[in-house]
Amino acid sequence: MTNNPPSHDQDPTQGYRGVLQRIREAEAACGRETGSVELLAVSKTRSAQEIRTLAELGQVQFGENYLQEALGKIEELQALKLCWHFIGRIQSNKTRPIAEHFDWVHSVASLKHATRLNEQRPETRTPLNVCLQVNTSGEASKDGHEPEALEELLPAYQALENLRIRGLMTIPAPLRPGDDPRQPFQQLSALRDRLSTRSLPLETLSMGMSDDLEAAVCEGATMVRIGTAIFGPRQYNK
Ligand SMILES: *Cc1c(COP(=O)(O)O)cnc(C)c1O
Repeated sequence: MTNNPPSHDQDPTQGYRGVLQRIREAEAACGRETGSVELLAVSKTRSAQEIRTLAELGQVQFGENYLQEALGKIEELQALKLCWHFIGRIQSNKTRPIAEHFDWVHSVASLKHATRLNEQRPETRTPLNVCLQVNTSGEASKDGHEPEALEELLPAYQALENLRIRGLMTIPAPLRPGDDPRQPFQQLSALRDRLSTRSLPLETLSMGMSDDLEAAVCEGATMVRIGTAIFGPRQYNK
């Protein structure tokens, strides 16, 4: 690399401001109310110091994928009273620390995991906020509920008293040439409209990442999950 090699303690201020601006512009372009889309800053692989910098700018919602890494940062930054969202793949034997230390989980893809999270949520904490992950790309390898299967499962999810089912989440498959980036978001939004009821309003649509946040906002995202556009490219081999 000749310019700007990725570094783990870059100042994310400029990237952060740029993303807030993109969100506000997308809201305006699609006739959405200003402030109707919340930014979830995806801080996986980033340092506690970078998170601290964003917290000082007023950012409260942070998303993490890797449990061990996240637990260290949650503990270190405890005094900041941030709101932590688990957005990574859930492993059955690691639900307890998620139930104990997070405020939200976006990646619930099975009733089995939800049941464990419900049992393991400490009584001293408010119910765990949950988004049900939906597979909008139809690939067998992808995590998430099949859209057709969800309706039947909803009452069982709703019965879990220590969870609060807030809405739906999706991670679209990488786009191929000719794909419409809005299609998976349209699908999630339509599914939400179909499944929402007065007793289970599913108000959250967690969709849109660095490359497709505008498409997601136009299709009704209420929370976009952004990492790279804030912090720069990730480096996994630290
Ligand atoms: C990493 C990740 C993101 C952020 O992706 P960027 O392209 O870096 O914005 C969002 N959602 C999930 C589930 C992720 O794993």
